[in-house]
Amino acid sequence: MKYISTRGQAPALSFEEVVLTGLATDGGLYVPETLPQFSGEEIAAWAGLSYRELAFKVMSPFVAGELADDELKTIIDSAYSTFRHRAIAPLVQTAHNEWVLELFQGPTLAFKDFALQFLGHLLDHILKKRGQKVAVMGATSGDTGSAAIEGCRRCDNIDIFILHPHQRVSEVQRRQMTTVLADNVHNIALQGNFDDCQNLVKASFGDQSFLPQGRQLVAVNSINWARIMAQIVYYFYAALALGGPQRAVSFSVPTGNFGDIFAGYLAKKMGLPIHQLIIATNANDILHRCISANDHSKKTLIHSLSPSMDIMVSSNFERLLFDLYQRDGGAIARLMADFKAGSMRLSEAALAQARQLFASFRTDDKGTIEVIAEVFQSCGYLLDPHTAIGLEAARRTRSDSAVPVICLATAHPAKFPEAARQAGQAQDPALPAHMADLFQRRERYRVLPNSATEVQRYIAAHVC
Ligand SMILES: *Cc1c(COP(=O)(O)O)cnc(C)c1O
Repeated sequence: MKYISTRGQAPALSFEEVVLTGLATDGGLYVPETLPQFSGEEIAAWAGLSYRELAFKVMSPFVAGELADDELKTIIDSAYSTFRHRAIAPLVQTAHNEWVLELFQGPTLAFKDFALQFLGHLLDHILKKRGQKVAVMGATSGDTGSAAIEGCRRCDNIDIFILHPHQRVSEVQRRQMTTVLADNVHNIALQGNFDDCQNLVKASFGDQSFLPQGRQLVAVNSINWARIMAQIVYYFYAALALGGPQRAVSFSVPTGNFGDIFAGYLAKKMGLPIHQLIIATNANDILHRCISANDHSKKTLIHSLSPSMDIMVSSNFERLLFDLYQRDGGAIARLMADFKAGSMRLSEAALAQARQLFASFRTDDKGTIEVIAEVFQSCGYLLDPHTAIGLEAARRTRSDSAVPVICLATAHPAKFPEAARQAGQAQDPALPAHMADLFQRRERYRVLPNSATEVQRYIAAHVC
């Protein structure tokens, strides 16, 4: 299968090339040239498959011709062997016809493990085959960094360098990164804010001459296609568990960069009967404003109780726009140029289509706390703040209460104790057993000044 850029001016790439590439050379994002289609009978025949077996069925058409069946199976088996729950993605009922899909059973307690455990093993496989070594470099304000480090820590052909803003990430989040003491893992605490981290990473990707001969940087941020692909699987898994495809279900998705819900949109296009796809945002509501009022403009960042959804721009939204504009790369390039200059407006046709595909709802911190308290009271289940926003959106926008609604639970509540405290929990939610000693573990990280020269010198000295 070939992959093409959303802006129409970059060369088409193979799956393997796309995994090793970040942005396309024209500034666009890569998407598959055609989408695999599954019939109702095919999907129905998957009822009862384990998560891993289903992952193979859903992902194999995307890698056809590049990974042999047994190679893909091995990568899937290794990726999901680190999950604590035997179901990998268990469903829990919170009210009549209302469920949460616990996507936090992986090593770092957030749904990003689904994509990054897979990507780590996939990269390792590709690099070994090519006899190549790379450096993964990324910036994080929290969840992505720890999931990326867990994904790469056992990869022989990868050195990973993660920048976080010094003294500006939560202690749980910092320790999840800095207590991984593997030789190929390098945490850099930058004396600056998250934007400084991101700018430094961007500049380093732009000019990689600081690296030793034969090395290149690889991005594992949410625009990496393989991450989206791995996330399609759990939509099928949850729908099948609740009687799909004979019975349609709806999904509500706590949304930041639009990677997770875009995977749900793809599942629907591939043939899974999905009734509603609900975009749930916190006060950083660019996508809710876009769907409800055609207002896709940048606003100042608001720091919320759900920090993993604190974004000003949703980078993966461009992949949807590409479809809404009939895959016209020129139109997307023009729209994105408008947006760069401040804001963009969707055409009437594109907006109408977006509204047909998605509902949206925004919940601020006050609403988030209320939902956590209410759900705990009614069924004794403690939601993390991101999931609470998803559940509230589900309740407020459901169009048919006879259709089961599944809210994606994107993080474990112990990762965000502040929200639990504000919702009236007397004690902080406990970390799962494998992390219970997190606060006693030894940490290792290097504090560096906000200087590209210094950081790049450090990286060059530590790639092995
Ligand atoms: C990353 C993240 C999100 C947002 O996911 P996107 O794919 O960026 O929309 C939501 N919740 C949690 C806990 C996350 O870590």
